Amino acid sequence: MFAISISKGINKIDSNKTHCIKGHPYTLDNTRYYKNKRYCRLCDKIRKQIWRAS
Ligand SMILES: [Zn+2]
Repeated sequence: MFAISISKGINKIDSNKTHCIKGHPYTLDNTRYYKNKRYCRLCDKIRKQIWRAS
């Protein structure tokens, strides 16, 4: 992924990313924007499930 190295150091929205770190696609439904950053809703959901389980 050469796009990542290009965007490194540049303080702007990481619009090059199409998937989160867990590999979930950044679709319109699955993406939450907060302070110019993207957040994966699926990862949010999973995190909450883990909290409930423990
Ligand atoms: Zn995710």
